[in-house]
Amino acid sequence: MRLARDGIPASPGIVIAPARVLRWEMPRVSAQGALTTGEPEAEVRRFREACAWARNQTREIQRQTEERLGGVEARIFEPQLLMLKDAELVERTESYIREGRLSAPRAWEMRVLEWESQWSHTANPMVLDKLNDLADVHARVLRRLLDLPELEPVLQRVGEPVVIVAPELAPSVVARIDPERVLGLALDGGTRASHASILARSLGIPAVVSLGAFSEQVPDGAEMILDGSTGRAVVGPGEEEKRIYRERDFRTREWEQEQLLLAHLEPVTLDGVRISLRANLDLPGEAVSARAHGADGVGLLRTEFLVIGRGTAPGEEEQYSAYRDVAETFSGKPVVIRTYDLGGDKFPPFLHMVPEENPFLGWRAIRVCLDEPALFHAQLRALLRAGARGDIRVMLPLVNEISEIKAAREMLERAASELGGEARSAARSLRLGVMIETPAAAICARDLARHVDFFSIGTNDLVQYTLAVDRGNARLAKQYNPFHPAVARLIKMVVDAGRDAGVEVSVCGELAANPLGAFMLIGMGVEVLSVGTSALAEIRKVIRSTDARDAARAAQVALQAFTPDEVVDALAAGLGRGTDVSIFGGTLGLPVPN
Ligand code: PEP
Ligand code: MG
Repeated sequence: MRLARDGIPASPGIVIAPARVLRWEMPRVSAQGALTTGEPEAEVRRFREACAWARNQTREIQRQTEERLGGVEARIFEPQLLMLKDAELVERTESYIREGRLSAPRAWEMRVLEWESQWSHTANPMVLDKLNDLADVHARVLRRLLDLPELEPVLQRVGEPVVIVAPELAPSVVARIDPERVLGLALDGGTRASHASILARSLGIPAVVSLGAFSEQVPDGAEMILDGSTGRAVVGPGEEEKRIYRERDFRTREWEQEQLLLAHLEPVTLDGVRISLRANLDLPGEAVSARAHGADGVGLLRTEFLVIGRGTAPGEEEQYSAYRDVAETFSGKPVVIRTYDLGGDKFPPFLHMVPEENPFLGWRAIRVCLDEPALFHAQLRALLRAGARGDIRVMLPLVNEISEIKAAREMLERAASELGGEARSAARSLRLGVMIETPAAAICARDLARHVDFFSIGTNDLVQYTLAVDRGNARLAKQYNPFHPAVARLIKMVVDAGRDAGVEVSVCGELAANPLGAFMLIGMGVEVLSVGTSALAEIRKVIRSTDARDAARAAQVALQAFTPDEVVDALAAGLGRGTDVSIFGGTLGLPVPN
């Protein structure tokens, strides 16, 4: 049987191995065990002991995760610790024991099910993570009460290396995976930002999520290919297909080796246009590698790592040292730090955000920053202080209106007025910019340009908002097309507005990391591209193989196109003329079987 499924690529890499299908069965409380025969108070004590034990156990997993993977990953367990202290959950369970004379396991089970039912009707990613955390906590307490062995040893019984196929995996299970034995994860649910995805990336194992009811269709032990870079899972592949994927994996690794050798080459076009090639970072720890790969600075440091999974808001000092570290690693080069882009699929528990029907059209990014002045203020102070240690530039996400820029600037000035010395003088020269990631911002770019020092085009969101296609919906992957003529024309409007106003325009969305996309952007006159570290070498090669005049001609044709295919054809024809197309053999250019 051959079964191929496309999901969301959550952690890159290719693996071919047998599937190990896991289904987490929550232990059931038997009918006989439902009522307590003894004193309710003794049962309450037993329940409290189980909660205390679960808290210790969770802290221990958190400590091990911190040691193994780092602080950001360890914080994923904070919501679980909060749940184990939550009066709504714990005290109500105790009252069920007392008033209903229920046994501790039955009272706990009832209360957890009640909690779950409040949320389980929604597909909101925040809620799905919360449900997954709750399931983890539920099982841990229940197993203690029922005197059952822990869930985790199941994974330790995995003998030969496998790909785990499961509906979902609890964070405590993923955090303890041994990457020598678990080579990849294929999960029915989840998003790129869900806990299991973050942990898989930290562990360096490929993962594909949001595969639908995949785990119900895969026979345990069946051989499968998992491609975490494209989001494809194939069960029962043929020999030829395996050969193609092995080759792809081999060439990708070879390509990665080559990257470091290319890092010192200037990103300059054949006709002498110097492009500033910067790095996108999700974590400060990635700065050293980006520098080694020759980045000209940081075009986007996402700061959500500071808050994901946190039970409390991060302090100013902790932020300051993270920003300062990156600024010092890139001493003398620009480091663009984006203020919190919360909402969408990133919800820190301490904000108590109410689930929304359309989180990507909801309380997100700059809207959250301005509505949560204490949180924003601490971030701005930390940024201003770190600004004294390097060329830090502050970028606001998802801006639509001039009023948002003005409000943020006022807050920045207030924070600067509180600071003394170096930080205060650094604040005077600090550059403030915005991301252009909605059609509204692109269309009004000329107006916005009068209020900012730079623009950075976030094509990931710009594409989803322009085309009304959810960027995380695997089913719409084909419709999510960054080469749609509408997107190309909006980008050109922004580039022209920036040039006329003397405002720097960079592109930090994924389009800049795509060879054809980078070629088009150079042709439109973009001189700053910011890409993930793994794409630096490929885009450096594209720049060095491009004649900017050819690119401009191709971009002109693309801007007149009626369809995405015509845009791609125009660019491919232009790129093919002046370029050694074989340079894209590293990750591209190999057939992908259907
Ligand atoms: C974008 O939207 O293009 C972008 C770079 O931001 P993020 O991917 O973090 O939303
Ligand atoms: Mg964005």
